[in-house]
Amino acid sequence: MKGTDIRSLLPQELEAFLAEYGEPKYRAKQIFSRLAAGDAISEMTNLSKSLREKLDSDCEDRSLKVEKKLVSALDGTVKYLFRLCDGECIESVFMKYKHGNTLCISCQVGCRMGCRFCASTIGGRIRNLEPSEMLGQIIAAQKDTGERVSNIVMMGIGEPLDNYENVKKFLQLVNCEGGLNIGYRHISLSTCGLADKIRLLAHEQLPITLSVSLHASNNEARSAIMPINNKYDIDALLSACVYYYSETKRRISFEYTLISGKNDSENDARSLSSLLKSYFDKIGAPIHVNLIRVNEVKETGFKRGDKESITRFAQILEKAGITATLRRRLGTDVNAACGQLRRNTASPRE
Ligand code: SAH
Repeated sequence: MKGTDIRSLLPQELEAFLAEYGEPKYRAKQIFSRLAAGDAISEMTNLSKSLREKLDSDCEDRSLKVEKKLVSALDGTVKYLFRLCDGECIESVFMKYKHGNTLCISCQVGCRMGCRFCASTIGGRIRNLEPSEMLGQIIAAQKDTGERVSNIVMMGIGEPLDNYENVKKFLQLVNCEGGLNIGYRHISLSTCGLADKIRLLAHEQLPITLSVSLHASNNEARSAIMPINNKYDIDALLSACVYYYSETKRRISFEYTLISGKNDSENDARSLSSLLKSYFDKIGAPIHVNLIRVNEVKETGFKRGDKESITRFAQILEKAGITATLRRRLGTDVNAACGQLRRNTASPRE
C-alpha cells in the first residue's frame, strides 16, 4: 500500500498537505470534517473532480469495514469485528450507558504482552494500528449505529503504550474540533504496566483517565500471570503511577481481574489494600479499583469465582478506604472475551 494515510493527518498537517495542491486553508477544514463523518474522498462532491481524482490517487483510505456484527438481545451492546485494509481483523464493542455511548477500541492487531488470561495475546502481535485505524473504529461504529459515541475506552485488543506514538496522535485526532471532538476526560486508556511510558505520558498534556491492569498484589503472583512484571515489577509500576498522579493530578484507576483460587482470597484483598495505600496515601491520592471476574477463555484454563467472592473482596477494599467498583458486564450473550471473535476468523495469513 502506498500514499499518504489521509485519515491520520491532524488539521494542520492536512492543511500543509493540501497547500501542495494549491488549496486554501478552509479546504482542509471541509475535508477533515467529511473524513470524520466517514465519507470517502470520492463522495466529497463539494470538491472539484480533479482534486478528488488527485487525492484518490495520492492517498490511501484506511477506513474499516464491518466484517461481523453481534447485537446483544439483553442490552443492545454491539460487538464488531472490523476488517482493515490489509485484510487483518480487530474488534470493538459499542455499549450504551446512561451517561452516553461508549466504544471500546483496539490499538494493535494482536498483542505481545503475553498476559496468561487474555485471548488477544495468544497469537502474538501482528502489527500496530495507525491513528486512522483507531479513529476508524469510532467512525464506523457511529455510521453503523447512527448514534454518537461520547466515551472511548482503550481496552480492546492490544497494549496502547506499546504503540505509543500512534496512540498519542489518535488521541489528538479524536479530540479535534471539526472532527469527532471527544473530550480527553471522556477517554480511558488501559495499560498492563509499561512504567517508562506511563512516565512519558505524564508530560503529554492529555488529561485522559489512566487505568492500570494490576491483577495481583505481589511480584510472584503478578509475574505468574503477567510477563511484563519481569520487566517492570510492582514497585517500578506503582512508582510510575505515583509520578503520573503527582504530575497530572488525574486519579488512576486500577483494574483487578479476579481469578478463582489465584488472586481472589480475603488475604489477597487485604494485601492489595495495604500495597496501594503504601504508595498513594502519602501523596494524598484517591485510590480506585475496578474489579472484574475473569472471562473464561478456553485456552487459558482460568476459572471465574462466584459472585460472593467478588463482593467480599470489594468490601475489604472499601473498609480500607479504597473505592471499589464491580464492572457491570454488558453484552454477556455476545461477549466472547476480548480477542476471541478475531481468533475465530480467518486472517489473510492463513
Ligand atoms: N493492554 C491493555 C488493555 C487490555 S484489555 C491492558 O492490559 O490493560 C483491558 C482489560 O481486560 C485489562 O485489564 C486486561 O488485563 C483485562 N482482561 C484481559 N483478558 C481478560 C479476561 N479473560 N478476563 C477478564 N479480564 C481480562
